[in-house]
Amino acid sequence: MSLIVQKFGGSSVADAESIKRVAKRIVDTRKAGNDVVVAVSAMGDTTDDLLDLAAAVAPIQAPRELDMLLSAGERISMALLALAIKSMGYEARSYTGSQAGMITDAVHGAARIVDVTPVRLREALDDGAIVIVAGFQGFNRDTRDITTLGRGGSDTTAVALAAALQADVCEIYTDVDGVFTSDPRVVAKARKLDRITSEEMLELAGSGAKVLHIRAVEYARRHGVTLHVRSSFTPDEGTIVYDPARLPEGETVEESVITGVAVDLSEAKITIVGVPDVPGVAANVFTTVAKSGANVDMIVQNVSAAATGLTDISFTLPKSEGQAALSALQREQEAIRFQSLQYDDQIGKLSVVGAAMRSATGVSAKFFEALFAAGINIEMITTSEIRISVVTHADSVNDAARAVHAAFGLDGDTDAVVHAGTGR
Ligand code: ADP
Ligand code: ASP
Ligand code: MG
Repeated sequence: MSLIVQKFGGSSVADAESIKRVAKRIVDTRKAGNDVVVAVSAMGDTTDDLLDLAAAVAPIQAPRELDMLLSAGERISMALLALAIKSMGYEARSYTGSQAGMITDAVHGAARIVDVTPVRLREALDDGAIVIVAGFQGFNRDTRDITTLGRGGSDTTAVALAAALQADVCEIYTDVDGVFTSDPRVVAKARKLDRITSEEMLELAGSGAKVLHIRAVEYARRHGVTLHVRSSFTPDEGTIVYDPARLPEGETVEESVITGVAVDLSEAKITIVGVPDVPGVAANVFTTVAKSGANVDMIVQNVSAAATGLTDISFTLPKSEGQAALSALQREQEAIRFQSLQYDDQIGKLSVVGAAMRSATGVSAKFFEALFAAGINIEMITTSEIRISVVTHADSVNDAARAVHAAFGLDGDTDAVVHAGTGR
């Protein structure tokens, strides 16, 4: 008998009919002779709706209360799913994150799982029950408070359960057929990948491909969990996220230079204008930004070309952290000695990812050529060993993604199918 962990995202359980459809899928897996543990997300756009409600009652939200509020979303879907399964004549029990032993650090809104103690889940499995766990939430032992894992965090719940219970596979069911060469909502000609290395998936997830939560990919890599991303709307095989180091002896996978293209519209850019080009300035700037709690992504600074001896430093960070970083920098204006600050939240980041980039030549040339041909202006550039990212104006980033996808020969013959969801 196998133990299978299945995760169903919000668009797969958006209404009563969808919940019944998912319940049937779970029961079918059980009927095939498997033990089943399910992690479930909140229904449809519930989490966004709850966030809108919170914003409507308070301009600044207390993180502890926000987590209490958001964790309610997954409580609803887990109980409804258990009810639906039970009405089909199968035993099912739902558990909150804390009941399931999902122990996290104390960081509200972005908690990390530090331990999983699934005692009650094992008991339920021993009793022959199907186990349903609320995704996205955990519990901190010191504060004794409920935490949430960050947007998209139900994927990480599923992976952590799979690791703790030593599941045979972790299936991530969503509203598209698997991991594609790009977001099918942006690039219609995106192609489904049969497999992708966890290293490339990590870079794509970190570059805005929200099909998997980045921490889920990290956790799966660390614990040797095989992920299977697939559609809850069709029976088709999806995408296997695998670790090449764990491939059976002699088995190799042919690689194309570029595996995927990702778009991220969630960041903003801060430019610190007119700082002295002397040692210690960058340290001062980024210590100030770090203290504001912001997570810096790309950084660009050039040596001063002007006789003034002044230069500019630009960096990107999540829009949600922009105001706090700006205020922190403003308070330090005298110490850092900059002239002014500029804030631009109309930017988009475009990334191309591929492990074969390590040994291929001319990848950046082709990338920039494609952007030039599409008339797109580049504001910033960064690279990693297997990724090149550029910042463009927000309005042109989707066109840029389509142009680059075509230039690298990734376009499929037919349009990709998106089965449900608002893409919110
Ligand atoms: P769920 O609610 O199931 O967790 P998400 O909305 O979090 O679903 O993730 C699925 C969505 O991710 C897809 O609908 C698609 O728009 C988006 N996406 C972004 N990049 C990719 C990609 N490379 N492959 C597939 N989907 C992607
Ligand atoms: N419901 C949470 C969110 O919308 C977690 C998830 O769906 O994975 O971010
Ligand atoms: Mg998701």
